[in-house]
Amino acid sequence: MSYVIPPAPVASLPVVGRAERFPVRRVYCVGRNYVEHAKEMGFTGREPPFFFFKPADAVVPVPEGETGKIEYPSLTKDLHHEIELVACIGTGGRNIAAADARKHIWGYAVGLDMTRRDLQGEMKKQGRPWEIGKSFEQSAPIGAVTPAAQVGDVENAEIWLKVNGQDRQRSNVSKLIWNLGEIVEHLSKAWELAPGDLIFTGTPEGVAAVVAGDLLEGGVTGLSPLSVKVTPAR
Ligand code: MN
Repeated sequence: MSYVIPPAPVASLPVVGRAERFPVRRVYCVGRNYVEHAKEMGFTGREPPFFFFKPADAVVPVPEGETGKIEYPSLTKDLHHEIELVACIGTGGRNIAAADARKHIWGYAVGLDMTRRDLQGEMKKQGRPWEIGKSFEQSAPIGAVTPAAQVGDVENAEIWLKVNGQDRQRSNVSKLIWNLGEIVEHLSKAWELAPGDLIFTGTPEGVAAVVAGDLLEGGVTGLSPLSVKVTPAR
């Protein structure tokens, strides 16, 4: 196969304890999936799950023990952090039952769904798509994937984010409105999942702005932690 222009590289994540990497196909994200975060965004109650995408090349892979860098993006004055558990799909399928979902998950990682909140808010107000708020370059820093076999009880794991050493977000994965199985069930009705798909499962309360120079350190108990520094806009 030859191409008329150079093909884009395959996005991929490091894997804990392995030299091989996890190749990324699609990046799905669940909106408003923790009650207290839904409330802080002005919503209440259990609404059906809804999804948006980020492009695979928005992923910033951060190796274990290293601090990744993301550049403060254009157009925004309100860049927010959203710490999330990321499920990494190893086996695809459609119409996957919630009870079978875990068989399709190869591993888990800690990710940040970085959000241009001011632009997202403007799009919401106008009933327009969210991409400009959610799907920009470097909007998805993610740490190393821990294989599912090495992960303990991820459904009851603590999830947290510190900014410059101060607690910003702290909750528990058990507080997801739609749990991992239900997310996979809903998602696989709408799209056929395939190996390499990532699912950002939603963020707990405490989302807030970051500025250039901030150090973000996030974790989920049992997974490789994530460390990211925000660098000034060019
Ligand atoms: Mn999110």
